[in-house]
Amino acid sequence: MAPLAEHPGALRCADDGHDDDSRDVGRHEVDDIAAEMGIDAAEIAARKAFLELTEADAAQLRAIRDALASAQHGFADGFYEYLRRLPELAALLPDDDTVARLKTAHGRYFDSLTAGDYGTAYVGGRLRVGMTHARIGLTPKWYVGAFRKYLADMLRATWHATGGEAERFLPAFDALLKVVMLDLGLTLDTYIHADKRAIALRDRAIESSVNGVFIAAAAPPDYRLIYANAAFSRILGSPREAVLAQPCLCTAADAGEGDGLAVIRAAIAEGRDGYTTLSRPRADGAPQWIELFLAPVRADTGAISHFVGVLNDVTARKEAEQQLAFLAHHDALTGLPNRGLFDHLLRRALARAGRGERFALCFIDLDRFKLINDSLGHDAGDAVLVEVARRLRAACREADTLARLAGDEFVILLEGAGTAGAAAEVAARVLAALARPVRAGGRDVDVGASLGLALCPDDGGDLETLLRNADAAMYAAKAAGRNTFRFYDEAMNRRAGQRLALETDLRRAVARGQLELFYQPQLRATDGRLAGVEALLRWRHPLRGLVSPADFIPVAEDAGLIAELGEWALAEAARQMVAWRGRGIAVPRAAVNLSPRQFHDAGLAERVQQILAAAGAPAAWIELEVTESAAMQHPAGAAQALQRLRERGLQVALDDFGTGHSSLAVLRTLPLNVLKLDRSFVQHLPAAETDAAVAGAIVTLARQLGLAVVAEGVETEAQRQFLAGIGCDLLQGFLFSRPLPAAELEHWLADQGVL
Ligand code: C2E
Ligand code: MG
Ligand code: MG
Repeated sequence: MAPLAEHPGALRCADDGHDDDSRDVGRHEVDDIAAEMGIDAAEIAARKAFLELTEADAAQLRAIRDALASAQHGFADGFYEYLRRLPELAALLPDDDTVARLKTAHGRYFDSLTAGDYGTAYVGGRLRVGMTHARIGLTPKWYVGAFRKYLADMLRATWHATGGEAERFLPAFDALLKVVMLDLGLTLDTYIHADKRAIALRDRAIESSVNGVFIAAAAPPDYRLIYANAAFSRILGSPREAVLAQPCLCTAADAGEGDGLAVIRAAIAEGRDGYTTLSRPRADGAPQWIELFLAPVRADTGAISHFVGVLNDVTARKEAEQQLAFLAHHDALTGLPNRGLFDHLLRRALARAGRGERFALCFIDLDRFKLINDSLGHDAGDAVLVEVARRLRAACREADTLARLAGDEFVILLEGAGTAGAAAEVAARVLAALARPVRAGGRDVDVGASLGLALCPDDGGDLETLLRNADAAMYAAKAAGRNTFRFYDEAMNRRAGQRLALETDLRRAVARGQLELFYQPQLRATDGRLAGVEALLRWRHPLRGLVSPADFIPVAEDAGLIAELGEWALAEAARQMVAWRGRGIAVPRAAVNLSPRQFHDAGLAERVQQILAAAGAPAAWIELEVTESAAMQHPAGAAQALQRLRERGLQVALDDFGTGHSSLAVLRTLPLNVLKLDRSFVQHLPAAETDAAVAGAIVTLARQLGLAVVAEGVETEAQRQFLAGIGCDLLQGFLFSRPLPAAELEHWLADQGVL
């Protein structure tokens, strides 16, 4: 049985293209409906057979068709007058235009009823009318009534058309009855189908919704679920069969979801809508957040028959909100409380201190973090901070609060540790925790930290004072050589203030021409001839006088001024060399110190070359001194940096050698020219046997690596003789000359005749 819909347009209505009351229903829709209803040629034949509607009946009607047409005169007018008398129908026939249009359509319809052709096109027209009725809301009772009225009118018309002869009238009217019943059947079926179709669409739409939808019977006490869509089971993670006919979760008193459900229960009790957010544990223990809307469904009588509910899984949104709230008070990288939260906790601790509880603050600043960040990159820096935070947390006691204040600054609020002894214990634990190298950027790096401790109430009773004093103590720890801790004392405040003033002044020192270079000669151990000079920075402060680099270089490093100072020193040394050479003073070479920061700057070699070119000084005139600790921090990077300097014709010296825990294996990989034996080894020579042995070993080692050795801090004749004896190449120290301004050095050179 091939459905008619497979032949497009098969059921197109007879009066297609005309202006009628069914114009809103398209051709394809009629075909679709016919297919859905299973109305094809076979079905039409079956319906006709059941109604005994035969070709003979069609012939009967065709025979009286013309006679009927004249009898029907004025019939449409009367019919519509009748329809308009009923208020419900009058509402559907609002204006005369509509009625005129419908009359024309009906005229054609009535005409087609007796046209004697009841094929597929005819059936299509009937379906279309049925759909239109469903669409405008004309319920079956009305059009059954209209058919009755039509038949009543046709009774008389047919009687006349058959000349009032019973033998002609009865079969003719029976034929008309059969056609009308065929119509009525089709119209009713279409109406019912259209209704079902709308309901099916709603069902499918609700079933497809991403929101969980359920319907609960409004029958206390259980309010059992009678419907739940697919999303409902997905969100709650329980199969539909398991929830249907079960008490609605909204009423479960033992649901354990707290106040959220109370709101819903109240809404149900009061017959209004309600909204809540619930949380329930997921399989992994984390909470699932569900938003629930509930509304009563009312019957025509106004009584509540059901409740309809909508569920949304809002876990992702809730988690994002909680994350935001957490981030507002925590540091995103380490997850530790941030400054704002710490201030809050500190104020609470201060309030408790007002009632006699003591506590301590421990300020922590990492010693080498800036260097790590600059040389290994930010990712490695982040990794270090995360690991440091983890170790600090482990070093704290349960009651302590650890926070990250900024960059590499941490602070611990030591609850109940109001004595120096208790605070020192924690500080020692923190230092021990940071003593082991941290793995970052694929290598082990030494971090170290300086700690400042302030006690409450001894060192301050308010937030600002305590923080300031712990900070001052931390600076004292840094000044004491780092990797240690200090307690706050009054003198620190003064020093901290001085340090700040120094930093402010230092910022202007270059511009105001307060910097100078002093030069200290380096002499050949064999014949005392001049091998070079070391350029050493001095700051001629207007009030303090000459400030030692030992005092201002660390300040410059912390304040980010060191690159500017270093570049000034290099430019000045180069300028001085050019001036000396120009005047026939043959100083072979000037050594210039590099700070670790400068050394770890990838653009260093380039900068050096530019500065020397600007001064007109060949690279061979300049030696750069890098401290051993700066080079060992990141040996692979150091080797590359040194290589770039060497390629540009510069000499490189490893300064303060012996203080920086060099490994010999690493030393071998560095492309150096000179080792500078640190003053601490020279100081106690030749009496101190160990130092003598170490100095001897260093010189032997340097020989093997092809490096020249400079001994620093040579103050006595005995030292000179010993160092010359073990094979040191160059000697530098107060025995020969202190660092001198350029002009004084010139006199010294002339007096000594070392050139
Ligand atoms: P350094 O590079 O090891 O310089 C040697 C230091 O030892 C100088 O101290 C020098 O005056 C001192 N010295 C030389 N001979 C003797 C001696 O016989 N006995 C004693 N007790 N000391 C002696 P200074 O000039 O105070 O410089 C201290 C440090 O400051 C330098 O140590 C260097 O690390 C740094 N520095 C100096 N100038 C600069 C610079 O231009 N840039 C950078 N980054 N650092 C600099
Ligand atoms: Mg030096
Ligand atoms: Mg040195």
